[in-house]
Amino acid sequence: FSSLQVTEEVREHLKTPTFDNWQWEEAEMLVLLQVMYTDLDFLTAFQIEPEALQNFLFEVYCHYNNIPFHNFQHCFCVTQMMYGLIWLTDLRNKLSRVDLLIMLTSALCHDLDHPGYNNVYQINAQTDLALRYNDISPLENHHCAVAFGILAKPECNILKNLSNEQYKLIRGGMIKCILATDMSRHNEILNKFKAMQPVFNFTNKEHKELMKIMVKVSDISNEARPMEVAEPWLDCLLQEFFNQSDTEKLKGLPVTPFMDRDKVSKPSSQTSFIRFVLLPLFTELTKLFPCLEDSDLFYESLPIDISEKCRHRSEASFVATLSSIQGFYFTVTETKVRVCDFCIGYQIKKTKQNKQSFTLVLFRREQIK
Ligand SMILES: [Zn+2]
Repeated sequence: FSSLQVTEEVREHLKTPTFDNWQWEEAEMLVLLQVMYTDLDFLTAFQIEPEALQNFLFEVYCHYNNIPFHNFQHCFCVTQMMYGLIWLTDLRNKLSRVDLLIMLTSALCHDLDHPGYNNVYQINAQTDLALRYNDISPLENHHCAVAFGILAKPECNILKNLSNEQYKLIRGGMIKCILATDMSRHNEILNKFKAMQPVFNFTNKEHKELMKIMVKVSDISNEARPMEVAEPWLDCLLQEFFNQSDTEKLKGLPVTPFMDRDKVSKPSSQTSFIRFVLLPLFTELTKLFPCLEDSDLFYESLPIDISEKCRHRSEASFVATLSSIQGFYFTVTETKVRVCDFCIGYQIKKTKQNKQSFTLVLFRREQIK
């Protein structure tokens, strides 16, 4: 299986956010990653030798660990979403090739050698990583350092034919993008981006913030994918979370509440994540790229919550049918709706091109006292 054998159909599908990672072997994903670098013209633009690219990708693959979530498949998905967003938002005509290379390569490297335990654990358990990086984004600093360790090997160095100046630019950009994936900085980065939205201009250097946002969106985009792609990922994530909280309990460390198997349920974890993290980020990005409203992103993912709707409910008249969701854009309102004695819902406003709108409810199973 080589990049030459990838059909035109697969090449086109690879450019969309509905791509299904579960249908591909790891060896095939490596080839698909080559296709991404090729079809964005990186090989010609940066004089990357195909062999160096293959070596680089293989080393990246080897440096992802066999853990439930932050593994090579996650790396592939994030890179593929980045790639899909580049095509969907026509960034090839808006940003420089160097910026695109920074974003795609950052997505590829953003979780290298992830140990399966998050920063809070690293700091509480005083691991080597926390000591080395003084508790400041220990994981993200590590992912980035591993990436440049791989690039330091001459046979893997896809940047070797670039000028010193270009190398510096790419290194600086990748460091910024990878460090931006620390979720504890989520609000800081989102707010900075929000503030510059009204005066956004692709040619202004300050607006490189968009590159961080693009990598962040790609990183947490599982829930924006079709249901059959997104669902298994949630199981992987919860498995990794539960591993961590089990270890924390065993070692007498503080237990992270959203990782506690006694406290977390599948719908509840997903609902608050979509509401508080993913939707606000996606909403900002859609202001800049209205075309995202018409894309396949998100329209299938929210109904997961609706299908998990309260089984106790007698009259929840707000519930929209799956078919009516196609082609709408969502904003979550603050309005809580009592569904029954056990469940509440959050209202979601759906609009299409600001014309039609109606409300449905995102359910959350929660004991009401
Ligand atoms: Zn990630």
